[in-house]
Amino acid sequence: MIKQFDAVVIGAGVSGLYALYKLREAGLSARAFEAGDGVGGTWYWNRYPGARFDSESYSYQYSFSRELIEEWDWSEEFVGQPEIERYLNHVADKFDLRRDVEFSARVQSVTWDDAAQLWNLRTEDGRAARARFVLAATGFMSAHQYPDIAGRDDFAGIGVHTARWPREGIELSGKRVAVIGSGATAVQIIQTIAPEVGHLAVFQRTANWCTPLRNHAIAPAAQRDLKRRAQDVFDLCNETYAGFIHKFDPRKGSELSREARWAHYEQLHQRGGFALWLANFAEVFTDREMAAEVSEFLAAKIRARVRDPRIAEKLVPTDHLFGTKRPPGEKDYYEAFNLDHVELVDLRETPIERIVPAGIETRDDGATRLHEFDVIVYATGFRAMTGELMRIDIVGRDGLNLNDKWADGPLTNLGVQFAGFPNFFAILGPHNPAAFCNITRCVESNVDWIVGCIEHLRAGGHSTVEANAAAEQAWTQRCYDSASGFLFADVRNSWFFGYHNDGGEQGRFLVFTEGVPAYRRIFAEAAASGYAGFEFN
Ligand code: NAP
Repeated sequence: MIKQFDAVVIGAGVSGLYALYKLREAGLSARAFEAGDGVGGTWYWNRYPGARFDSESYSYQYSFSRELIEEWDWSEEFVGQPEIERYLNHVADKFDLRRDVEFSARVQSVTWDDAAQLWNLRTEDGRAARARFVLAATGFMSAHQYPDIAGRDDFAGIGVHTARWPREGIELSGKRVAVIGSGATAVQIIQTIAPEVGHLAVFQRTANWCTPLRNHAIAPAAQRDLKRRAQDVFDLCNETYAGFIHKFDPRKGSELSREARWAHYEQLHQRGGFALWLANFAEVFTDREMAAEVSEFLAAKIRARVRDPRIAEKLVPTDHLFGTKRPPGEKDYYEAFNLDHVELVDLRETPIERIVPAGIETRDDGATRLHEFDVIVYATGFRAMTGELMRIDIVGRDGLNLNDKWADGPLTNLGVQFAGFPNFFAILGPHNPAAFCNITRCVESNVDWIVGCIEHLRAGGHSTVEANAAAEQAWTQRCYDSASGFLFADVRNSWFFGYHNDGGEQGRFLVFTEGVPAYRRIFAEAAASGYAGFEFN
């Protein structure tokens, strides 16, 4: 007998847990299917050394329960993965969510049955369920990607993607380790393992503009104050462009002297986190000269911190300006390259030819050079925004497969629904502000809207809700248009454009960039208008 629920949720990470909570609160029966054997999603899978928040911890926490806020102490401004995973387990226990989660249940397919007006869900290990609604809580950085390099399976040592780091850890002490990649994940792991490994080679294709995190412990008095001010923090986040505590400087940078601007950059650099990015002059996002000036400011910091000028130059990005990609947060990333046993391999000069049993072969001055390793770490990112949705066989009305529908790039209405897929909702899919967002802030508002839409459907006695095709075209176009005027629109080798993706979404702008407040306003207007752009039947 196949179990039937009002709703099934795919995933039990930050968004899946909150979706379960909200669905239950709305009086719906719900069941989550989670590929991992525990809750946490991103914070379950990404347990590599050094994994930690880039959001201030207290700004990332859930806002829906005052009691939860009161009883949870965040030990640091930016806590590490173990504490985040503990928090999400605490949430699951406190709200008794675990009883509605099936673990080790990777969803293979969801198929719409038009006669029954139900979705049929199947997991890879043969479990099944039926439900009126599907909420895909699959995250926007879940489908990890290995680089397309020949010979990966030939390696005789340990090869591991950062998003599949084993729970028991990997002994790295004294080992010869390679890290491929130089994004936010690579930066965190490199700075963490550099002191303990025997030899570390960083295989960098593109340098990134990193900003200092300036993490610190939260003292008891500050802890009490943060709990007292929690609602103010959430309110502030809901007003800012990216849902962070950082607000753009209201002054026009171009009207200040260079010295005044430089002093401002210095102050933001000292503040840490995303301050240099998101509390800077808004012009940094649109004005090439100002972005170049901040880049120059950061380049000077890199040159001052890296002893070997040749290495320093390789760590200074030359193909994009500061702010056009989400900047990795670092602590002593640049100092790692001052250690004698840390080497930077520039893949633009010496590209990887193949992986062999002993390590990695590069092409060096026309000759092949073998770099020998015990461990190869792939910090090579994800099929961003669309990846996990595209890996599931999602079949809507009239046999329409989502992979076919999105063959030339995703089409969504408000980033939450797709025409042809009734009662299917994506919480953090493409075309919402997630790429810039302090995730929990966006998750809460997206889930609230989706559950509100379901309640509206039920109140009206309807059985389905589905994005209107014209509204979907208009929203998709609006997302493309939202990038215009921003400097990041010219930087194609970023995951905002699905650079590491391998489907039709590659090269398409995948994000809504009018900002979190605009998105919240659009949500509110859609709900107030009786969900214009969505068809109820
Ligand atoms: P990423 O930013 O996509 O970086 C992937 C890295 O792998 C890049 O350096 C890329 O080089 C490299 N790469 C990919 N394919 C390659 C190949 N074939 N050969 C050589 N290098 C290759 O992925 P990520 O670092 O995992 O970060 C993704 C996002 O996750 C971040 O932007 C951030 O939003 C989020 N994140 C957040 C945190 C946090 O909360 N603290 C931590 C980590 C990540 P190219 O640039 O040349 O393609």
